[in-house]
Amino acid sequence: MLNQQFRQQFPFFANQQLTYLDSAATTLKPQVLIDETIDFYCSAGSVHRSQYDLAQSEAYEQARDLLARRFNVENRNGVIWTSGTTHSINLVAYGLEHQLQTGDEIVISVAEHHANFIPWQQLAERSRAKLIVLPLNEDFQIDSKTLLAHLNQRTKIVAFNLVSNVTGVRQPAEQLISLIRHHSNAKILLDVAQAVCSEQIDTNQLDADFYAFSAHKMYGPTGVGVLMGKLQSLAEIRPLVFGGKMLENITEQTLTLAELPHRLEAGTPNIAGIIAFGKVLEWLESWDFATLNQGLYQLAEQARKRLDAYPNLQIFGGSLSSPTISFAFRNIHHSDIAAMLTEQKIALRVGEHCAKPYLRYLQQMGTLRLSLAHYNTQIDLDRFFAGLDFAMEILTDE
Ligand code: PMP
Repeated sequence: MLNQQFRQQFPFFANQQLTYLDSAATTLKPQVLIDETIDFYCSAGSVHRSQYDLAQSEAYEQARDLLARRFNVENRNGVIWTSGTTHSINLVAYGLEHQLQTGDEIVISVAEHHANFIPWQQLAERSRAKLIVLPLNEDFQIDSKTLLAHLNQRTKIVAFNLVSNVTGVRQPAEQLISLIRHHSNAKILLDVAQAVCSEQIDTNQLDADFYAFSAHKMYGPTGVGVLMGKLQSLAEIRPLVFGGKMLENITEQTLTLAELPHRLEAGTPNIAGIIAFGKVLEWLESWDFATLNQGLYQLAEQARKRLDAYPNLQIFGGSLSSPTISFAFRNIHHSDIAAMLTEQKIALRVGEHCAKPYLRYLQQMGTLRLSLAHYNTQIDLDRFFAGLDFAMEILTDE
């Protein structure tokens, strides 16, 4: 099976006893990433600074090409390297501040990660705009009619996640975006952090203005992120950070900015991380993604069915739309289950998932979140369910 071969590329499995079911937090790292990182640090040079660092500069720009190709970004200059999703979203929130006036409206959903909530809340406060937080329907999705009721000429920004890190539910982004385009002139930002691992995203087809994600969610390193999208919309962003390599010319009184993407990439970037991520993207192209996804979604479907059979267990989310499943027991505290699973070396996420407003909305103190990636196999699920059964036995034994 292809997923088994894929698993062999991750040294984690050779060294660890841990059953890893927390890929929504961060994915494990393939050997190719580790090798490339070591190679980089065994060589010398920055990027775009000198003659001798040409090889690094080429690899750095090649990573941008690979990224643009993977996500079908209309122009390679519409790919900006950042330090992560959080940085990317802040870049937009600060960068568009000059377009906002008192009384303008910013629309988000209640299902956002703090990284796609706080920057908009703070922008609204700074610019005296109104922050509208949309509720969800019974399928944990943004309702078209509710969204429509909040779209008008004052709507300047609409930002929401493609896949929720809390529930794993995918938003019907295609319909929502087309609605926004028809009823406002708002800029649209999609937080795709939870979608990049298990979905081949076509940015051109989805038609948002901006997309933000972190490389560490798709087999890449930490400290590397991406802001990508329409060149025209990116050009309206004012830089958040000023410094080297982002300018065309400077006098004592004036500054002319460089063209995209460099104007938004001031300072020495995470060169090692970006070049190594480029290698990961190249390596990913050598795998049959559809077949890997088939194995992944079959496993996730099985996990969901098996979880469904437990009494007093609630799953948050309707039908499976990503390999992440969030659940809670009505009669046992989530932390107790998590503690028992940790003792058995089973790693999954528990708590509020950096989404306090959403958890409050769901009327939960916390949930347990099982999230899979392409390297997970039947062994991992069987260990998890054996661990869960054991925890249940102990915790429900009066
Ligand atoms: N948005 C979503 C949907 C996420 O899952 C995460 C990471 N948990 C983030 C934003 C923030 O990503 P980072 O911490 O890598 O910036």
